[in-house]
Amino acid sequence: MASAQGSLFPDASGPSLRDVADAIRLAGIDGLTEAHRRSDQAKYQEVHVKSALNRAQGMPFKWALNPYRGCTHACEYCYARKYQQHLELDAGDQFSSVIFVKTNLPQALAREVRKASWARETVAIGTATDPYQPIEGHYKLTRQAIEILTNAKTPLSIVTKGPMIVRDADVLAASRDAAGCAVHMSVPCVDEEAWAKLEPGTASPAQRLRAVRYLVDAGIDTSVLMMPLVPGLTTSRSKIEETLLAIRGSGARAVGANVARLDPAVREHFFRFLQREYPALLPGYERLYVKTSPPRDYVDAIKATFADTRARVIGPGARAVPGFGPPSADATKTYS
Ligand code: SF4
Repeated sequence: MASAQGSLFPDASGPSLRDVADAIRLAGIDGLTEAHRRSDQAKYQEVHVKSALNRAQGMPFKWALNPYRGCTHACEYCYARKYQQHLELDAGDQFSSVIFVKTNLPQALAREVRKASWARETVAIGTATDPYQPIEGHYKLTRQAIEILTNAKTPLSIVTKGPMIVRDADVLAASRDAAGCAVHMSVPCVDEEAWAKLEPGTASPAQRLRAVRYLVDAGIDTSVLMMPLVPGLTTSRSKIEETLLAIRGSGARAVGANVARLDPAVREHFFRFLQREYPALLPGYERLYVKTSPPRDYVDAIKATFADTRARVIGPGARAVPGFGPPSADATKTYS
C-alpha cells in the first residue's frame, strides 16, 4: 500500500468501507489507487472495519462474520453480488474482481468476544463471501477468526467452496472440542459443464468433495449443501442423483438443497449470463422469476425430487441440513 503521507485515505489506520465507497463514487474503480492487483487480476483493497460480527435475523445462527467482501469464485447465481452495489460497484464483474480485505477483523473480533456481555452464540463464517477464496492463503483472516472464537469458547459454522479449508483442520478440531463447529461444503452439482459455466472461479466439485472426505476423516462435522439448484441447468433428476452419488462417496454427514433465488441486481446479472450462454432458457426464466423466487409449487416439486432421490441414494435416514438457504431481502445487514 502507499504510505499514509500522500495517501488517498489519510487515516493511517486504513480506510473504512464507507471511505472506499466515496472514493469509487468520485473516480470509479480507478479511484482505488492503493489497491493491490494480484496474479488472478482481481484488485484487493484493504479496509478497516468497526466490528467483525453482524447480527443475523431469521437464520439458524445468531451472528455472521465475513472476512472479505466480493468473491473471486464468481458464481453467476451468487446472492451476495447485490451487496457490492452498497459500495458503488456493480453486481457483475466488479463483484469478483474487486475484493475488500478486512485486515483488522481479528482485532475487532477479539474486542467483541472479550466483552462480558458476549453470550457465545453461534457465529456463521462466510454468509456473503467465501472465507476460503484464494486470497485467504495470504491473509489468513478466516484462520485467525476461528482461533479467536475457539479461545472465546464460541461455536461456529463455515460455508465454503474452497478446498483450502483442509489447511485449517487443526484449528477446526480445536474449535470442535472447545465449543462445537460445523462445516458446510457447497457442491451444487458435479456436472462438469454446469460447474465450468456457473462457478468459473471455483475448485472442481471433485476437489471439494475430497476436502469433505479429509475433514470427515479428521473428525470434523462436515455436510454438503447442493445450493443453489439452478432451474434447467442442475435440477433434473439425473443431475441430482449423479451429485448425490458423489456426495455419498465423500462421507458427508448431511446433505441439503434449495432452489436459486434471484434478487434484484443478481437477477439482471444472471439473465445477462443466460443470454450469453443459454439463450434458449431465457424465456422460461422470465416466466419463472417474476419474483425473486420461482412459484411455490415449482420449488416444492424440485425439493420433492431432491428429498426422494436423497432417500434412495443415501438412505432413508439421510440427515438434512436445517434452515440453510439464501437470506431474505431484509436481512442485508447480516451479510455485508
Ligand atoms: S463461492 Fe459463495 S460467495 Fe463466492 S461467488 Fe460463489 S456463492 Fe458467492
